[in-house]
Amino acid sequence: MSNAPIEKCPECESQDLTWDVTSRVDQSLHVRPRVLAVLGCNECSETLALIDSDVIANFLNEERTEHGHFLESADRQ
Ligand SMILES: [Zn+2]
Repeated sequence: MSNAPIEKCPECESQDLTWDVTSRVDQSLHVRPRVLAVLGCNECSETLALIDSDVIANFLNEERTEHGHFLESADRQ
């Protein structure tokens, strides 16, 4: 996966993209369900990016500022 910003769908060039969250259970491994964030195109349903829960956690940890964690500050609104 490249680190370049995703600006538009490579299939239809639409900029109407939305993150969605889904979970998958791998029955053969008997592990906890994996939570995945999926960046999809609203025009053609193309999947542009698939991000694992570990990456999401790392991202949220990196969002920490001197004011605290991202979610803690959001809850106060
Ligand atoms: Zn598309």
